[in-house]
Amino acid sequence: ETILEVTNLKKYFNHKHVVKAVDGVSFTLKKGETLGIVGESGCGKSTTGRMLMRLIDATEGSIVFQGKNLVDLSIKQMRAMRKDVQMIFQDPYASLNPRHTIERIIEEPMIVHKMGNKIERKERVRELLEIVGLSSDYAKRYPHQFSGGQRQRIGIARALAVRPKLIIADEPVSALDVSVQAQVLNLLDDLQKKFELTYLFIAHDLSVVRHISNRVAVMYLGRIVELANRDDLYDHP
Ligand code: ADP
Ligand code: ADP
Repeated sequence: ETILEVTNLKKYFNHKHVVKAVDGVSFTLKKGETLGIVGESGCGKSTTGRMLMRLIDATEGSIVFQGKNLVDLSIKQMRAMRKDVQMIFQDPYASLNPRHTIERIIEEPMIVHKMGNKIERKERVRELLEIVGLSSDYAKRYPHQFSGGQRQRIGIARALAVRPKLIIADEPVSALDVSVQAQVLNLLDDLQKKFELTYLFIAHDLSVVRHISNRVAVMYLGRIVELANRDDLYDHP
């Protein structure tokens, strides 16, 4: 079952000169699959991810998600769609409000999308904390009381809260110590198997992408220059 079909996606930025950040990218993603997008800094990975979330508008191309072309959706329709596509960010600290308890942080997407009542949401937060390997006793703590790896687990719990159909992970471990990276990757991998999650996994580091992806798209200067199953992939510089 294909849930995402991206066709000839382009993003040109017009400043003093035109920057072809994404220049004709196409790929599909099936339910339960992980597609890794890898490539050096500046090749257009984040811009691709941001267009899928409609954080920025595409210059050209289509993004068909669960049968709807996201490019055509109104702001309101898109807001509903965001429930089904959640993001995990590189820097969990920047995306977690330092003045809110982690309970509130994880609960927030459920409030936005009107899921459950207060008691159900708090129960779900505790369940999610356990799912990502944190104690549910931590619910009333603040982000600064956690390590980098733990904060990324909180970010993952928040992304899972609304049971998204697609998770876009943009460099989810690159801000973490190397020793912690593998733990977080293993968690993402375990969650994928447990809940049949579908990931678009963006990273500059092939070894990280390869760890978790069924297929890997290699980007260079805004284009996909290679798209291969993990096992068919040769080492890239
Ligand atoms: P990556 O995620 O692979 O590092 P990006 O998608 O962030 O790459 O960037 C791709 C290219 O687009 C880069 O040349 C970058 O400088 C440029 N770019 C990204 N965002 C903007 C923007 N808002 N305005 C102008 N250029 C941008
Ligand atoms: P069951 O439905 O028998 O409880 P599941 O494996 O579907 O078993 O789910 C186990 C727990 O994980 C459930 O309590 C559920 O709340 C949670 N869960 C299920 N699917 C997801 C998901 N996509 N994201 C986050 N949590 C989930």
